Amino acid sequence: MGHTLAILGSTGSIGQSALDVVRHHPEQLRVATLAAFGSDVDALERQALELRPELVAVYEENAAEDLARRLRGRLECEVAAGGEGIVRAATHHSVDRVLAAIVGAAGLPAVHAAVIAGKDVALANKESLVVAGPLLTSLARRHGASILPVDSEHAALHQALRCGERREVRRMVLTASGGPFRRRDLDTFEEILPEEALRHPTWEMGAKISIDSATLMNKALELIEARYLFELEPEAIDVVIHPQSLVHSMVEFCDGSWIAQLSVNDMTIPIQYALAYPERWANRFKRLEPEKFGTLEFEPVDSRRFPALALARRALAMGASAPAVLNAANEVAVAAFLARRVRFRAISATVEAVLDRHRGEPVDDLEAALAWDRWGREQATEILGVR
Ligand code: NAD
Ligand code: MG
Repeated sequence: MGHTLAILGSTGSIGQSALDVVRHHPEQLRVATLAAFGSDVDALERQALELRPELVAVYEENAAEDLARRLRGRLECEVAAGGEGIVRAATHHSVDRVLAAIVGAAGLPAVHAAVIAGKDVALANKESLVVAGPLLTSLARRHGASILPVDSEHAALHQALRCGERREVRRMVLTASGGPFRRRDLDTFEEILPEEALRHPTWEMGAKISIDSATLMNKALELIEARYLFELEPEAIDVVIHPQSLVHSMVEFCDGSWIAQLSVNDMTIPIQYALAYPERWANRFKRLEPEKFGTLEFEPVDSRRFPALALARRALAMGASAPAVLNAANEVAVAAFLARRVRFRAISATVEAVLDRHRGEPVDDLEAALAWDRWGREQATEILGVR
């Protein structure tokens, strides 16, 4: 069986890898809609001419007009603009599976709309689950939509969980590479530059998630993502550092058996898993050769070096609005760090300071989630003094 796709965030790192998966499986996958911010109109034009979608949505209005002008007379394809356009791409009548790979809380409205429209969502945009996890999972249940993880750790857990019943699970362990600063002298953390933080040892990714990997905030977001996606108590989810990034995560069952998933560290594999599920498709991507992988190392996370995980646990204990606020503060602080306006350490310090000002509340609808996102941004901006 195949799927007709919406690719949201098609010009990004995950979006481009998803298009590689599509090119690899022309019999099974067709692209009906594309969506992106619009900073790279050349890329969108190329993708549209190659994939011939029915609709392309571009967030930025001028870029949308530019793309429409370029495609006129060459391709029968509607170009939609703004947040509304992105939602239309996610809910288009031809689409049955949405690859959600917009970065940040900006991806939430489209994921929310897709779930309500009953579309299955292959979710890379972990921030949308962090901001509105309980809301999205309950809407997905009500509207018969599945949320299928693309994040490599959660794809691993999703596969491991197929080996038993949920009540048989003792705990889940997310693996983390440890990022570029696993061994760096703590006294020099103040001097970390954006270009050092962007240099990830094992994965090639967009800028925001690369910084999140350097602070381990990415793992903090993933802990929250796992908690909501698999509906397991936070105490039953642990994190270990695994520098080789070959074991993508693992589940311990009640009888002492561990089930782990391994593959090369290339996102095409978990993307394909989420696009093919419940099937598995053969491919010719790079493969893992166990004869060659040498030693697999695992070590505990140093919480002094990486305060982010404790912040995630604290936010989970506070209630649904707190992860939204944590995510918002992190997005603001990461942008300020990338713009060289604040130091590396300021990222987790800002998240902590914003959580200090917050009291957790339930999040019952999209408006509430977006309001908490705005509140977290305002608080972080004020604390950082970067307005
Ligand atoms: P990226 O920065 O490379 O790409 C982001 C994409 O989102 C681009 O296409 C951009 O145009 C689009 N976008 C940004 N703002 C938008 C808006 N307001 N409206 C519409 N489109 C918008 O990011 P990425 O590394 O591909 O990451 C995407 C998501 O996948 C993130 O949530 C990230 O955490 C997650 N993820 C990425 C990886 C990875 O290996 N890159 C792995 C796991 C999870
Ligand atoms: Mg991940």
